Amino acid sequence: MCDALDGSRDQPRTFLNLERYATRILSVDVEEWFHILHSPATPNVYQWDELEPRLPGNVEMLLTFLDEAGAHATFFWLGWAAEKYPKLLRRCRDAGHEIGCHGYGHLPYARVGPEVFREDITRGRAVLQEVLGESVRCFRTPGFVVDGGRDWFFDVVAEAGYTCDSSTLDGGAASLSRRGRSTGTYVIKTNSGPLVEVPVSAMMMGGRRLWSFGGGYLRLMPAVLLDRVAERTARTGRPLVVYLHPRDVDRQSPCLRLGLWGRFKFVVNRKTTFAKLRRLQNRSRFCSIREFLTFRSMLESANAESRPIVRRDVAIQVTDVARPHEREGTGQRTGYPDTSRVHRTRRGVHAE
Ligand SMILES: [Zn+2]
Repeated sequence: MCDALDGSRDQPRTFLNLERYATRILSVDVEEWFHILHSPATPNVYQWDELEPRLPGNVEMLLTFLDEAGAHATFFWLGWAAEKYPKLLRRCRDAGHEIGCHGYGHLPYARVGPEVFREDITRGRAVLQEVLGESVRCFRTPGFVVDGGRDWFFDVVAEAGYTCDSSTLDGGAASLSRRGRSTGTYVIKTNSGPLVEVPVSAMMMGGRRLWSFGGGYLRLMPAVLLDRVAERTARTGRPLVVYLHPRDVDRQSPCLRLGLWGRFKFVVNRKTTFAKLRRLQNRSRFCSIREFLTFRSMLESANAESRPIVRRDVAIQVTDVARPHEREGTGQRTGYPDTSRVHRTRRGVHAE
């Protein structure tokens, strides 16, 4: 039994069909084929420059794909990669894609602790900003947050200057409403201000949440199953958040001496990646996280101001959890729009 994280059958329809607009996000963790975590075969940072570079060609393929599709993505660059390929980084930005940060040296936060992690993600952001000449606001941690996160994780991310994070899997405790349903994006209050969290989409199978919309899992899953869950997710108004690595589109990439499962996950169905991406954006083109948040903010404003257009007695209730576009107490703009939790109600329009 596979399903989205909450049922959509009982979701009332609103006057705008959310499914047709910016509801499918593509994100790319820009790293090399050898940036595999939790394997003794992974080379250390001093060996990286000696290994065959595959990143530039693979990023070029992704840029071409997105250009032909008229779509955008959020590219989470490693600071290390930005230093090596500054022109490619600027080309990503100039093509209209959002640039986020994946840290500098691909360090998993749980292994290195808060001090080293803070230093790494601050350095990564500084390198990207130096190359781009503009602020970088969105972050994704290597290896994702798989254990609910250390209590310091989000504080450190916000402290390093980020106002948006996409390091978690949809359906975690923090993203659930009182009725136990995922709300999609949500706002985390940290010691350094609000942080907008945009979780990666998940699939429920046998009562477990699966990383089905990214990397080796995306390549492994049957396309029809991905389509079905994507459709149901879209009907709930939550974004579908897909993630990739450049190596996921590289059919000739070398592979480290990984274990049996690791090697299988590395090579399985690499030829299907682009076909699955095309199917997933069949109804709605991929957009970046920034575009999604901007659109969602506009939509919420439109719904809150459009009582006469709302069908029947069904409307959208907007409950303002926080205002991430302004840092608390400073009035500093972060570059991201206001993101509110959206709850549907049969009582009418309420904007707080
Ligand atoms: Zn990574």
